[in-house]
Amino acid sequence: MTRDQVYGGLFGVAIGDALGVPAEFTSRASLKLDPIKDFVGYKSHRQPPGTFSDDSSLTFCLAASLCNGYDLHDIGNRFARWYDAGYWTAGGNVFDIGMTTSRAIDRLKKGIHPDLAGDTAEDANGNGSLMRILPLLFYIKGMDIEQRFEITKAVSSITHGHIRSVIACFYYLEFALCLLKGQDKQMAYTAAGAMVSAFITKKGISQKEVDLFALLLSADIRQQSIDSISSSGYVMSTLQASMYCFMTTDNFKDAVLMAVNLGNDSDTTGAVTGGLAGLYYGFNAIPAHWRSGIKRSADILDLSELVFISLG
Ligand SMILES: [Mg+2]
Repeated sequence: MTRDQVYGGLFGVAIGDALGVPAEFTSRASLKLDPIKDFVGYKSHRQPPGTFSDDSSLTFCLAASLCNGYDLHDIGNRFARWYDAGYWTAGGNVFDIGMTTSRAIDRLKKGIHPDLAGDTAEDANGNGSLMRILPLLFYIKGMDIEQRFEITKAVSSITHGHIRSVIACFYYLEFALCLLKGQDKQMAYTAAGAMVSAFITKKGISQKEVDLFALLLSADIRQQSIDSISSSGYVMSTLQASMYCFMTTDNFKDAVLMAVNLGNDSDTTGAVTGGLAGLYYGFNAIPAHWRSGIKRSADILDLSELVFISLG
């Protein structure tokens, strides 16, 4: 992996997130009339321009933890520190948190083992583990697929333990791994689809769950109409929307702006898309005023370097 990929991935998450924060909960129709084109302030969460949210904070918690090795308790403790003490927040305060993540952090603080903290109910499949999973790529990249799956499952399960959220994270990281290895995006799409499909079939995952991933695993998402792409907070929506935005554009800026202008869960669709686009096009392909305008830019640079040095 290169510095450009690592820095691009981490900055990509935060920039996609921050572009989307002012638009969260806004409808696609109203964003069509008044689209997000740049960092803007206030609106949905009354935050200044360039403010990232829970998606990036929890991503940075995971990244910082992995630099000291793989320790689920440490990852969980950092999530709790974010919630209680503003660790890795953009401006010192937590202004958004998902319900499933909030419940999991309460359980972590009561001492439950981290891989049992996340809900396993079918209706607890929001995008809260997918939105923060990207840094795990840098830790698992050299492992075999069985280990990659087991570790992804454990890290998702700190907040989201249902198999659907686990497979969504696994697919996202397998696709990102193909990009990290330097494959072009179409080759990565075909390869990751085939690999994940074979793996989850072999694992004996229920057909109902396998079928939910069919669009990504064995069809071409680029052929969908944009109107059929949902941007809700459901993990499948976020995964599909992000893949759609990444696959149908050819640069970082267009990918993240398409994502946030889908509306609804704009910040998370932006973050999940931005992670892939940043990794693929690289840090230097991100507009310079976004790299410098993101809150805590200097700290994110330091963290990126630490990740590169520790996990490279
Ligand atoms: Mg958020």
